[in-house]
Amino acid sequence: MRKWGFPAALLLCLLVSCQTESAVTEASFTAMDTVVTGRFYGAEAEEASAAIEQELEELEGIWSKTIPESDVARLNAEQELPKDDMDDRTVALLERALTLSGESGGCFDPVLGRLVSLWGIGTEDEQIPGQEELQQALAQSGAGKLQETEEDFRLQDGAQVDLGGIAKGAATDALRQVLDGMELDGYQFSLGGNVYVGGKKPDGTPWRIGINDPEGESAYIGYLEAADCAVVTSGDYERYFILDGVRYHHILDPADGNPARSGLRSVTVVSADGTLADAMSTALFVMGAERGLEYCAQHGLEALFITEENEVLLTGGLRESFTLTETERFQLSEGME
Ligand code: AMP
Ligand code: MG
Repeated sequence: MRKWGFPAALLLCLLVSCQTESAVTEASFTAMDTVVTGRFYGAEAEEASAAIEQELEELEGIWSKTIPESDVARLNAEQELPKDDMDDRTVALLERALTLSGESGGCFDPVLGRLVSLWGIGTEDEQIPGQEELQQALAQSGAGKLQETEEDFRLQDGAQVDLGGIAKGAATDALRQVLDGMELDGYQFSLGGNVYVGGKKPDGTPWRIGINDPEGESAYIGYLEAADCAVVTSGDYERYFILDGVRYHHILDPADGNPARSGLRSVTVVSADGTLADAMSTALFVMGAERGLEYCAQHGLEALFITEENEVLLTGGLRESFTLTETERFQLSEGME
């Protein structure tokens, strides 16, 4: 009999804890050109999963470049679109994108559509463009070519809006608003590299967000502990091709139209503001570690940088919350242990 004592007690504990534990629902689907996963705890966990799927479908319908009826596609095609003819969320996002572009000194730029299409990275048509085509696309790019008037948004010279560097972050904020109105104890979801963690896990332990291994050898190099905030990563391993040993990736330097060569593999930004985190992870990647860390200090941003030398650099606010697990291949930069 004694031999059964412990497992029986354990089983009872499990049953009791199951009864008090909140319901959990997991979600996994594709939206906005990326894999979406989620985990929701609480009375409305199931409804939460369905609600985010519906919300994302709606947002994709207004922000996608490739859905012809979307606000962005119509603005790109017609070069001019009245605000009355756009969803309010598009107006707000375009305004925010222009503001963040200015604040980042143009390193985040929502009007790189011509360059993004020319490189075609991650599509069947990916290529290294010729100099002439590149210069032409560069001349048709840049946030300065998108103007807002009282009534409309206007593009010049055939420039094209591309919200790929900010839309998932903006969607993160929209999803959080939907979820905050529901009966949930805690949740986390991820849109590609954009993660949000809200509320509490049922066991009370903090949420852990894995930081991708840019070399792909392990899943993660370590993890961040966070609560009620977005954790957004831009990396050169997300969309790329390699030719003659050179990696051509999807984060473009608006200054010359080429994939940014800033000495970084990835940048992760942690912020309650998902839109800001997304735009800035892209911008900081373009800036590089030195300029990026300076920018973070000036603007109160928290970020983690992984360099091509596998060095990990952290802003002050992340030193306590980040744990490096791949200690053989990656090192915390001096003064950051
Ligand atoms: P992210 O993964 O958030 O860094 O965004 C990268 C995506 O944003 C690319 O696939 C492009 O669609 C677009 N993009 C590329 N370079 C930039 C840039 N410097 N600023 C804004 N968007 C960019
Ligand atoms: Mg981004």
